[in-house]
Amino acid sequence: MLVAVLLIRAMTAQDHEVRVEPMDVAVSVDGAAERLAQAIREPTISPWYPEDDVEPFVRLREFLEESFPRVHEVAERRLVNDLTLHYVIEGDPGSSHVVFLAHMDVVPVEETTLSEWTHPPFDGVVADGFVWGRGTLDNKQNVMAIMEAAEQWLEEGARPEHTLHFVFGHDEEVGGTRGAKVVADEMKANGLEVVAVFDEGLVIADGLVPGVDEPVGLVGITEKGYLTVEIVARGDGGHASMPPEGLAVVRLSEAMQRLRDHPMPAALDGPTEMMLERTAPRMNFGYRVLFRNLWLFRPVVLGQMTAQPSTNAVVRTTAAPTMLRASPRENVLPQQAVGTVNFRIHPRDSIDGVLRYLEELLPEEYYQVEPIGEMRAEPSPLARLEGPGYEALERAVTQVYPGLLLAPNMLVGAADARHFTGLTSDVYRFQPIPMTSRDLERIHGTDERIAVEHYEALIRYYAVLLRQW
Ligand SMILES: [Zn+2]
Repeated sequence: MLVAVLLIRAMTAQDHEVRVEPMDVAVSVDGAAERLAQAIREPTISPWYPEDDVEPFVRLREFLEESFPRVHEVAERRLVNDLTLHYVIEGDPGSSHVVFLAHMDVVPVEETTLSEWTHPPFDGVVADGFVWGRGTLDNKQNVMAIMEAAEQWLEEGARPEHTLHFVFGHDEEVGGTRGAKVVADEMKANGLEVVAVFDEGLVIADGLVPGVDEPVGLVGITEKGYLTVEIVARGDGGHASMPPEGLAVVRLSEAMQRLRDHPMPAALDGPTEMMLERTAPRMNFGYRVLFRNLWLFRPVVLGQMTAQPSTNAVVRTTAAPTMLRASPRENVLPQQAVGTVNFRIHPRDSIDGVLRYLEELLPEEYYQVEPIGEMRAEPSPLARLEGPGYEALERAVTQVYPGLLLAPNMLVGAADARHFTGLTSDVYRFQPIPMTSRDLERIHGTDERIAVEHYEALIRYYAVLLRQW
């Protein structure tokens, strides 16, 4: 009987139906790869004020002006803290707003890895069917693809009904607080009605979803929250020549051990469960038996997921100890020892929840917990898998990759999108670029590159996406 139920459930998995109509758009991609390569040649490494070189950002801005004259004629362009670009294309009077995010800044390349690059990271080489260099996947490809699509669309004389915002941050990799966040705060202060936000995020996962052989478009509908705390362990006073029982450093290490032994609870729910529901119909039979019968196999699946860092991160709030400090001298007992711990908060938890968990874990008698740093964020609300934002995305993806399976998922990292979640919950973090696990390593790693064919598809995606508004 049990076996029959398991098999019947596995066999009756039904595909989610795509209801959108396709939309054919003629898009020219002539010279687009070369223009992306040109953008890569500006080493726009996220600046730490005030001493850093911001000239590459200025040159990239001038390059955008030259390359996309029509956008610069029609849109109003604002500069935020001199470097972030905020383009506004006015829609009909009283219209609501749609936001497209991307970022111009890139992470630096470690000196020691320079020789491992097939083409130097800032040379902007087009070769063997790829555009090579730092920023081709994170995230100049989105900046340039949005501009390519918008330029052609506006050139046709079209104008949007909704007011469109292109926000190209200059400090996403270091928190976005001087760029995208300033724009989001201003939009909130002005009470703008925002329908949807589109940002970078997850990708078309090739061979990354268990049991699914075909590529899956993973749409980030939420991102984890972010909190850093200092755990201060107090020690008994004394002399290093006669160390007492209660040492601050030992208490701090006990705290770290406790964090590891008693992590915040894991569960298979929210976006992860939704992803499994959507992909189950396309899984091979063995996996389908498992994932279509979570009522029985949930503990087994969860056990597997918590055993791997990458899947553990999607089922629970994680704690990463990153810094330690205590005595300034080798022969002086510290009165206190301080450990810094970085939390990534699952959507089912909250900043308060993390602080309460620490309170229970670490007795007040010996420990004090202090949130630190200007970067602090609750987990984002879940974007809907219906409504105009999602339908526009679905139509645009389907146009470029017909029949592609789409499934919601969660970002475990942070992107500029989180600054906008107070304006609408319909924030979609997705770039339809096919990637294998090897490709994912190239982001912030060595030999970052994008296939010219995939980049051209990205331009077509934005061309259809823009036309929905
Ligand atoms: Zn990025």
